[in-house]
Amino acid sequence: MKKDDCIFCKIANGEIPSNTVYEDDDFRAILDMGPAAKGHTLLLPKQHADNIFELPDETAAKALVIAKQIGKKLVDKLGADGLNIVQNNGEVAGQTVMHFHIHIIPRYNNDNQKIGWVPGKPSSEELLEVCKQINA
Ligand code: AMP
Ligand code: ZN
Repeated sequence: MKKDDCIFCKIANGEIPSNTVYEDDDFRAILDMGPAAKGHTLLLPKQHADNIFELPDETAAKALVIAKQIGKKLVDKLGADGLNIVQNNGEVAGQTVMHFHIHIIPRYNNDNQKIGWVPGKPSSEELLEVCKQINA
């Protein structure tokens, strides 16, 4: 299903032009208009899903394989030194466009980008408590 008011549905299905670096029956990958680094790519399924939880398992499995292939191509062609794969779900997690997408971000030595978090310092008891909560 496509969603009428969704810009990534329109881009993925070719209704809005984009800088496409990959396309097949189910996906389109485009250059991000606000790149973290040269070649920052977004992999979009053509069918709408708000986030990873709505994505069919089959599409999710295909998406990671394609992201890997695109990542390899970006690194090889652009001479990148590393690669981040990032995928945000929900506003609190940094998702701004509510159509599932995977960020494929080539990284370059001295690119001065930061993609990360501030590490916490939980005690071993606290970690154990979280583990219990998850496994309960
Ligand atoms: P997220 O914060 O994970 O939802 O990522 C949304 C990304 O989409 C951001 O990196 C934006 O720069 C990018 N973006 C939003 N609109 C467009 C667009 N029309 N074309 C290309 N990239 C876009
Ligand atoms: Zn959509």
